[in-house]
Amino acid sequence: MTNEELWKAVLGEMELSLSRANFITWFKNTSILSKDKGAVVVSVPNGFIKEWLENKFNKRILLSIRNFVPEVREVRYLIGRPKIELVKHDFSSIILERGMEDRPNNDSDKDIDRTTNLNKRYNFESFIVGSNNELAHAACLAVTKNLGKLYNPLFIYGGVGLGKTHLLQAIGNRILNENNLKNILYISAEKFTSSITESIMNRTIEDLKARYSQLDLLMIDDIQFIAGKEKTQEIVFSTFNELYGKNKQIVLSSDRPPQAIPTLEERLRSRFEGGMIADIGVPDFETRLAILKQKSHEKVYDFSNETLVYIATHIQKNVRELEGALNRVGAFSQIYNRVPDIKEVKNILNTYLSSPYRKTSPQSILKSVAEFYNISSNDLVKRSRKKEVVRPRQVAMFLLREETKLSFPEIGQKLGGRDHSTVIHACEKIKSESSIDEPLKQELVLIKERVYNSFDK
Ligand code: ADP
Ligand code: MG
Repeated sequence: MTNEELWKAVLGEMELSLSRANFITWFKNTSILSKDKGAVVVSVPNGFIKEWLENKFNKRILLSIRNFVPEVREVRYLIGRPKIELVKHDFSSIILERGMEDRPNNDSDKDIDRTTNLNKRYNFESFIVGSNNELAHAACLAVTKNLGKLYNPLFIYGGVGLGKTHLLQAIGNRILNENNLKNILYISAEKFTSSITESIMNRTIEDLKARYSQLDLLMIDDIQFIAGKEKTQEIVFSTFNELYGKNKQIVLSSDRPPQAIPTLEERLRSRFEGGMIADIGVPDFETRLAILKQKSHEKVYDFSNETLVYIATHIQKNVRELEGALNRVGAFSQIYNRVPDIKEVKNILNTYLSSPYRKTSPQSILKSVAEFYNISSNDLVKRSRKKEVVRPRQVAMFLLREETKLSFPEIGQKLGGRDHSTVIHACEKIKSESSIDEPLKQELVLIKERVYNSFDK
């Protein structure tokens, strides 16, 4: 294995466990300078990156290298231009492979249409229908056949990596190709918000509003991001009314139903609830296997059925992870130029499945709870008894108890020095309520997803 191949494999692994932005930040322009006597020297572009890799990623990098070269004992980082050619790890294609279209406007993404923000890859043909997404899929298809007339707005919600972006974009692509309508826009709520802020600064907000009001089809992804953002909500509201009044189609996605989005203006909530709401759940085994077969076909992988069954059995909650695991096996067969047998597959996925990256920290739980309820982490710790923070605080206590090894007194300590009996009470309360209160149960699932889907904490 050459240094270049080795680093490529390591990057492949890192990429699976990090958010896209993080991956690019920390690993762009890195390479292996040399490898001898148990030490690998990695070239990094600057001191900042060096420090981060040493402090935050060293263990993972070492583990990953040892997967391929077990005798390596140490990794060192060196600032400077690499003497050998840089590894040409294709960052843009990885992003597309993983389908992380969080920032569809990224200019380096060559497959993304500049005016609509659509990526052709997301279409109905490549979407596998199962009992978990049947309703959402049918609603999306129906919308393409009755644009603006049947379900308006269409509101799709579901957890991370379950196909919301895929479905939204599939609608856009279908309309673009078959109806010949040009005024189509797919946009993430984050991007939507930042263009509003920008145009307020540039005094072009009227132009922006005029542009949105011309649309035939507007898709806003991850609409929960507009929670607490008043100006954005105002523009969403006026755009909504304008388009709705002209029978123009609006499609929205979110990680939760409209009534569970905190600090969403009532008038917007009722608009969102005025059309059709469909949810996407976790795929069952058959659907997971079908998705793996579809993805293998797309990528011309030739893995045995046993391999696919193994992956489908062990990864259950997130289609993006399912793809990630498949790609990992794919990386192996590229490096070794052969299809791995089932024993090797188990080995390859072993570190991924039981990966230490899935462990969490109290900070990460507090951060995720705060983000979810749109309050600050500090509110959780403070002495306030306001209703908006009491419940999140109890949820935080419950999750700290469930997901970490902290004792009741330790949890009380973390949350502003509260008594352990308060913590016990909170844990019991959330536990018993979540067994009968479906929205609360769903909230807990979503927060946990957040905890385990962000790796930079
Ligand atoms: P979300 O927006 O809900 O977080 P995405 O739409 O980005 O999820 O889906 C994550 C990845 O999984 C994408 O690559 C997408 O193509 C794929 N995916 C999700 N659901 C399906 C499905 N039913 N069939 C095929 N691919 C799917
Ligand atoms: Mg998405």
